[in-house]
Order: sequence, then C-alpha cells, then structure tokens
Amino acid sequence: KAGGGIEMLPSEDTVDLAKRHLVQPWPTAGEIGAETRSLIGSGDGIYITDGDGKRLIDGPAGMWCVNVGHRREELARVMYDQAMQLSYNTPWYTMNEPSAVLAERIAGHAPGDLSHVFFTTGGSSAVESALRFMQFYNNVRGRTEKKLILSRGGAYHGSTYLSASLNGRPRDRDWMDGADELIVKLSSPDPFRRLAGMSVAAFCDRLVAEFAETVKRIGADRIGAFVGEPVQASGGVIVPPEGYLRRIRKICRDNDILFIADEVVTAFGRLGHVFASGDVFGIDPDIITFAKGVTSGYFPLGGMIVSERLLEDLRRSNHPTAMYAHGLTYTSHPVGCAVALANLDLLENGVLAHAREVTPYFQAQLKTLEELPLVGEVRGVGLMACVECVADRDSKDPLELDRNVGQRIDAHCHDLGLLVRPLINMCVMSPPLTITREQIDDMVGILREGISRTMDDLRKEGVWRG
Ligand code: PLP
Repeated sequence: KAGGGIEMLPSEDTVDLAKRHLVQPWPTAGEIGAETRSLIGSGDGIYITDGDGKRLIDGPAGMWCVNVGHRREELARVMYDQAMQLSYNTPWYTMNEPSAVLAERIAGHAPGDLSHVFFTTGGSSAVESALRFMQFYNNVRGRTEKKLILSRGGAYHGSTYLSASLNGRPRDRDWMDGADELIVKLSSPDPFRRLAGMSVAAFCDRLVAEFAETVKRIGADRIGAFVGEPVQASGGVIVPPEGYLRRIRKICRDNDILFIADEVVTAFGRLGHVFASGDVFGIDPDIITFAKGVTSGYFPLGGMIVSERLLEDLRRSNHPTAMYAHGLTYTSHPVGCAVALANLDLLENGVLAHAREVTPYFQAQLKTLEELPLVGEVRGVGLMACVECVADRDSKDPLELDRNVGQRIDAHCHDLGLLVRPLINMCVMSPPLTITREQIDDMVGILREGISRTMDDLRKEGVWRG
C-alpha cells in the first residue's frame, strides 16, 4: 500500500504494462513504446519512494512543480470536496466560483495592469493561448502583418505546435517540424557561454543590441511578440545578466511588441514570490503565462494573465463581434481552481517566506560543488539551480562524454537517495520549497558523492583525466 492507502500492483507488473502499452514523453525512435523509467510509487513532503521502496529526495520537485511538497492533506481534501460539490461545468456558456475567486487572487499578485486570467490545462496550452491572443489582438486592430514571434536559444515553452516552435535547446527541433515562418530566434542570455574576456555587462549590451537590431531589420510592424522565460529553466537555469530583462522590456514597449513572460517555472514561489517578473526582475509584462506551481502539480492547470490595456483595446475596437475562437474543455476547471486556491493559501501563509529564507543557504551549499573538477559552473536563483559539468573547464566545450554525464550522476544519486533531473551534461535542482537546511545538506552531500563517483568512473574508463 502507498501512503495514500491505494492498493498497488507489484512493481514488475507495472513496469511490464508500461513497456507494452505506454508511450513516454520525449522518447527516442529506438525505444518508443518499449521503454521503462524509474517507477515512483508515493510521495511525502520533499521525498518520493520508488518501485523498490527506496526513499529519494525529489530534487526536481517533479518537474519544478511540487512546490508545497507531496501529500498535503489540505490540498487532497479540497480536491475531494470540490469534486463532490461540482466536478465540472462547461466554460463555453457557464462559469464557476473557484475560477473567478482564483483569477482575482492571481491578479492581485501580478505586476503592472495585469488584471484578467484565462485558465488552461498546463504550460504549453498557456503559451499557445498567449500567442493566439497576440494574433487575434493584431487582427482585430487591423495589423495583420504584425505576427512574428521573437524567441531565444535555450528556451523551452512547450510541446504544442506553436509553443514548441519557440523552443531553442539542443535536440528540441532536430527531428521535429515547427512553424518556422513565424519565429525569429535570438541568442540565449547565458553569461557562462559569453566570449572569453568579455565582461557580463558587455555581454548584456551585445544581447540588447542584437534585439534592437533585429527589430529594426525586420520592422516592428511585423513583430507581434517576444516570448521569454525570466530564467531559462530547462535550458539549464540560465539567469540573464542584471538589467537585461528591463532593457528588452523597454524595446518591446517602444515598438508595440507584446512582452510575454513565460513564468511556468518561475511563478508560484520558485523565486520566493508569486510572480518573479515584477518582484524579482522589476518588469511588467503584457502577458504572463503560468502553470506547474499554481497547483503544486496536484492538478493540471495553467493560464495566462492579460493586461487590462490589451483587453480595453479589444473592447474599444471597430470589431466588437470578432471572436477569440479559443478555449479548452477544461478551461477554468473547478477542481483545478479550487486546489490552486488552497495552494495559494499555503504559499502566502509561510511557504513563500520559507523559500526566501532558505534560498541563500541553498545556493551557497550547491556552489561548493564547484570545487569538483568536473563541475564547470553552479548557478541559480531562488530555489532553482543548475550544476553544469564540463569535460574541459577552460574551453567550456561539452565534449562527447558530457552528453550522458547528467544521467551517470543521476544513476549514482538514485542509489544514494536523491532524484536528479539530468539534462545532458547538467543536473538541475529545484526541490519542493519546503526543504529545510538539514535536507539541503543531505541533498548537496548526495550530489557531491554522486559527482565524485562519476568522476571515478570516467577516470577508470580512461575518457577523462580531470
Ligand atoms: N514553459 C516553460 C518555461 C516550461 O518549463 C514548460 C514545461 O516544462 C512549459 C512552458 C510547458 O508546460 P507543460 O509541460 O505544462 O505543457
């Protein structure tokens, strides 16, 4: 029996069923439909338990989402109560109370004049909704050419056609098509990969100049939006140079280009605040997209918060009957919105303050891993960090062996009691925000040992001499 009292199959049976009938996300052609992954049976606080009954620290908090931790009875109860009250209603021509109350609570935390929320089923659908909103907005305003979207290397915005077209990490698009005619790609704001000898300030100037020149070259009348994560999350926790986001915001405002901040990861506490755009980076986007932490992963919910000004422009347009023909069956889902309200209560009543309090310790402890010769850089902000391994620290050039170094570290850490999120040569850490100092010590201790064992393996195999 798992913690929740659910009768479970023997692990081997589950693994067998999955292998025969489940298609996992992001499979390779050689393994599609025939793959097994670590089986997770239960969760409690910052821990999860695998199919063998081994307890692990949930290093990535699921996928940057289980912000208040696993097995929160308050959240489970709210979902039960709401399902018993009203399990579903169509958002096409009816509405419910939890979504209206949640929209007001979210708007209260949002920067600038962001006042209205459109709910979706997750992050991809939130980004997709924002982009289709931009298209609609410009069509209604007679600016039918103003549709191009600026995105950046290192970005991840989702797995629907348009949101995935924005993605810019290695391997994202190698074998997948996309709406390339709509997208313009800019450089990732990754200071670690700036030219040797260049200061971070000069690097920032270069990024801003690239942005401004691109707008000039293409013409602001053809660019509808810029979409960016305030911190590129699955690109490897890329924290942009100081002032970068504010300067890009200004160029967007000056050129009437919508600034869409994709806060699917950074919102709902990851950086110690409900939204990072205003409270951490001092910007007021036109649209913010969110998901994940909004329900701490207890229910698939996401959304976009839209500026009052944009809605007002539409209401005052010459096309009052033009339709934003966009909605999802589960838009404003009552169970999702109810659990999000309870989750927000937890965040406001202690979890956010705790996250802010432990952040410096979390970052400082992880930073000590830079002592290890395989570690090129440890970087991060709030309770998100990345340990980037490089075979050659000077060239910073990930060599062939780097491609699976994250997986090797993950395998060792799994034995030692920590789930890592391996990303090629990087380990991303974003534990539940409730993590204590002692648990941070455990997490970093295991990671240190996992990296050390990996270094030993690489030396023994003769593929690395660090
Ligand atoms: N945007 C960002 C910044 C993300 O990190 C993700 C997922 O990791 C998404 C969008 C897509 O969200 P989802 O997987 O909920 O569709």
